[in-house]
Amino acid sequence: MTPCRCGSLLRKVTPQTFANGTRHLREECSACGAFQRYAPQHKAGKPRPAPLVDGAKLLAEFEDSLLARIGGDPAITHDAAGALGDHLLAVADELRRRFGIAEGVA
Ligand SMILES: [Zn+2]
Repeated sequence: MTPCRCGSLLRKVTPQTFANGTRHLREECSACGAFQRYAPQHKAGKPRPAPLVDGAKLLAEFEDSLLARIGGDPAITHDAAGALGDHLLAVADELRRRFGIAEGVA
């Protein structure tokens, strides 16, 4: 962030709607009140930009890596590893449901 002409890096942000209906965030310097810039804001109801990572792939790799680590850790007993694995898979399923992530993408 560029400092204000007064030297301050503190900003006050207020939402504003332009005449054409687009929403912006007005940034002012908190110290002297000078206008800094308008930052565009996502319109309500419009889809956000695509995520940077594929959620299904990320979750599948997280699952596989963690299960491999749990299974390969001599400090974790076979029974404990089984219980941890069950919890891990249950949480992964819950996250898939909650975020609408498809299963079985390799
Ligand atoms: Zn200032």
